[in-house]
This record gives sequence, C-alpha cells and structure tokens, in this order.
Amino acid sequence: MSSEHTVMQATKMMSMTVAAILDPGLSKSEMDALWACFFHRCAFCDSRLDRHGHGGRLDRIDRRDRRTAGNAVLACPRCSRERNPRENWHAFLHRLCVDTEVYAQRESRIQAWLTNHPLLPPLSSSAIEELRAQLVAKAVEWARLCGALREAAHAQRQQARTEAGTATTIVADAITGTGESSCMQQSGADPLPGSDACIPARPSGISGRGLAHLRGRTRHDKPIPIL
Ligand SMILES: [Zn+2]
Repeated sequence: MSSEHTVMQATKMMSMTVAAILDPGLSKSEMDALWACFFHRCAFCDSRLDRHGHGGRLDRIDRRDRRTAGNAVLACPRCSRERNPRENWHAFLHRLCVDTEVYAQRESRIQAWLTNHPLLPPLSSSAIEELRAQLVAKAVEWARLCGALREAAHAQRQQARTEAGTATTIVADAITGTGESSCMQQSGADPLPGSDACIPARPSGISGRGLAHLRGRTRHDKPIPIL
C-alpha cells in the first residue's frame, strides 16, 4: 500500500468519523422498532429479510438527508440499489406494485412509520459549523504535512542512494586500477597499494560518512556498508 493511499484512507476515516458524530444513525431501539414495523420484510417489494445476515438495510427516503428514523425504511439490497436517489418513494413503489391494493397496503405501512417518526430539524448551529470547519482545516493541514514529509524522506533516500553509488564506484575504480592510473598521472609517483593517496578528494555528492566508509574499505579491506 502506497503512502499516498494510506494518507487518503486516513483522511477518509477522519471524514467518516465527523459524519458518524453528526449522523449516528438509528439507535438499537429504533432499529428494533423498524424491523418490527415492517415485519422483517422489504418495505417496497415485501421480500423476507434476515436481520442477522446481509439481507436487509436501512434505506433513506431522502438520500441527501440524515439517517434518522423519520427518513428511513427497511429495504432489501435490490430495492435499495434500484431506487433512483432522486426518485420519490411513491413513484418507486408504483413501479413495483401494479396491483393497486398491494400498493395501498405497502404505502400505508411506510406512511405509518414515517408519521410516527417525524423528521428532526437539521443540525445547523454556528458552534457545530465552526467545529466542523476546524476539523476539516486540520485534516487538510495534516494531509499537506504528510505530503511534505513524504517529499523530504524521498529526497533524503535519493541522496543516500547517490552517495552509496558514488562510493561504490570509487572503490571499484581503485580496485580495477582506474583510480590508480588517474592518481599516477596527477602525482607522477606510484602510490602504495592501499594508501589514501589513490583515493581522490571527496567528490561532490558524497558525504564525510560515505568517504569514511571508503577509507575503511581501502585501509582495512572491510565491506562498505550500503547506505
Ligand atoms: Zn425489496
């Protein structure tokens, strides 16, 4: 899983947490009442539902509104999926029920539930909006800082790899004689095997630590740690 994906998931979790606080859904007693009111059957097609399985679900009458009892009916997955989010529930029920008597029975059951559970007013206090705005701002800032941290870590890893690669190349040159020939041309003398004389001055892009590793490899014939 990429770090970008992890940040996206964490940001989504923050958003879901805020949504769950503001729209917690039906309580246990409300869910009991919902299942009892519809006799463990889909409010639209009347198919039998299993509460402990995955057969039934709370279907919001108005998909844009909250998951409150006054905005919910019990529905099977198929009806929940097939009802157009913008479609009035009466129109959807008409599509399912050609028989007017069947339509009337199901319509009255849904209407009875909705009548007994009036819609609550929307949450709109300035305190809630202020807290929500603060949480959103913190989530955005958190994601921005994660991006900056990712870039800084990536840059440092790239630099470390470059330094390790440069050090390895210099050692290889020294072992194969490439470095020796350049030293000889510059100094005009035969360098002693294993002496620092054949190691060029620290090149750009290699750190003091990398150079120390290089010196250790030349003097003591130890393997160079890979950065
Ligand atoms: Zn159904």
